[in-house]
Amino acid sequence: SAEQAVVTLNDELGKDKNLEATKIRGHKTWNELLNRIQVEGGTDEQMKTFYSCLFRANLFSRKFYERKANGEPYYYSPYDGKVYDGYMYTDNGFWDTFRSQFPLTNILHPTMQGRYMNALLAAQEQCGWLPSWSAPGETGGMLGNHSISLLADAWAKGIRTFDPEKALKAYAHEAMNKGPWGGANGRGFWKEYFELGYVPYPESMGSSAQTMEYAYDDFCGYQLAKMTGNKHYQEVFARQMYNYKNVFDPSIGFMRGKGVDGKWQEPFDPLEWGGPFCEGNAWHYTWSVFHDVQGLIDLFGSDEKFTTKIDSVFTIPNVIKPGTYGGIIHEMKEMEIAGMGQYAHGNQPIQHMIYMYDYAGQPWKAQYWLREVMNRMYTAGPDGYCGDEDNGQTSAWYVFSALGFYPVCPGTDEYILGAPLFKKATLHFENGKNLVITASDNSDTNRYVDEMRVNGTVYTKNYLKHNELLQGGVIDFKMTDRPNMQRGTQESDLPYSFSKDEKVK
Ligand code: CA
Repeated sequence: SAEQAVVTLNDELGKDKNLEATKIRGHKTWNELLNRIQVEGGTDEQMKTFYSCLFRANLFSRKFYERKANGEPYYYSPYDGKVYDGYMYTDNGFWDTFRSQFPLTNILHPTMQGRYMNALLAAQEQCGWLPSWSAPGETGGMLGNHSISLLADAWAKGIRTFDPEKALKAYAHEAMNKGPWGGANGRGFWKEYFELGYVPYPESMGSSAQTMEYAYDDFCGYQLAKMTGNKHYQEVFARQMYNYKNVFDPSIGFMRGKGVDGKWQEPFDPLEWGGPFCEGNAWHYTWSVFHDVQGLIDLFGSDEKFTTKIDSVFTIPNVIKPGTYGGIIHEMKEMEIAGMGQYAHGNQPIQHMIYMYDYAGQPWKAQYWLREVMNRMYTAGPDGYCGDEDNGQTSAWYVFSALGFYPVCPGTDEYILGAPLFKKATLHFENGKNLVITASDNSDTNRYVDEMRVNGTVYTKNYLKHNELLQGGVIDFKMTDRPNMQRGTQESDLPYSFSKDEKVK
């Protein structure tokens, strides 16, 4: 209404109603947000890159509500066109952002995240489906049912603003029905996924990518059910979490398409984009097993075979085979220009892969390659990104990686270790606690972790836990110019993997 427009305008411009005063207020707001993480001891270029990334990650979550004259939030629903009290957020593709943009919000802006999680369930009631790509109404873009990753991750990190039973019901509906839009509302081939244990190819485009992402989403459903004592849904989702194994061809060491008849896709070329994958090829997607990296290592046969395969991603040629795309899409060109073999950091599927070295006892390789990616794929100039910005996801990757850790498996409370980029970083949490990360001898050559201490005690694990970070304290890294091949190599140092830590059937 015109009345609300005036209220909103007055709210945004305040009493002063002039450009200069508004500019000063905007500066203050951003300065407070950006100061939630203070980094020191990097080059001018690194400082600019870091805060550019933090700025872009902080542009989300996108508010889609206004305030009444009495200050209460309400919104026009983009899903059913009605007006509701409360908070609403939109303009987000979860296929990108479940990976690290939402996890970063869990750390820096938990109050907003709590409101968003509640809004997700409200959106589900208004739309009939959990959002997956809202812009502002639902589009169903890309694949997977990643709302459940957001919800499980929020719960794992202490957010209690929503009803978990309602979330699980909404997700079960998602997992067992076909949606009206795009590939990411419900599951087009949900019956096949349950009966065969995979989405078949060529019956469904993007089938193997879907299989892996559904298996991870089902893990998130399982996790949320387990954390909230819901035996029923825990059992429902436990059955599918290993389905990623059904699209792995051990004879060639790649995820691959598989038909309804159980026969592998022929002909098959791991360099070819599309087909059973989406915006990528088998070199990019074979790593999409976020919840059970140990299970993936076992499919390869050993830590050695697994890490050799990751090594190869960087050393094979950066050739493009468009496959079913039939022509070049920008993600292909970006991989070629990056010049890092088949490592396609400009798009999401492979962005967590480097951290997987930690699960196989070779964290120094993660430390090496993460620094390479930060140095080569991000700048402070107009060409600062190696691909789409993707709703803050590609920025959140840098923010996490520069701090020295990353959420490989949202829905668990672990962050997998890399190595810090700066000599010092201070995080100011909403709970009033501060976390200080120091690495005083850090430099471009001293990129390896020699020793790590958490609040003064030597720490050998390849992961950190959310609740421990949120207590505040000091994490000190001793950096060195040659890899320490002893640290982080013991079984007890390795991060969570479902098949290792829980052994459900
Ligand atoms: Ca993308």
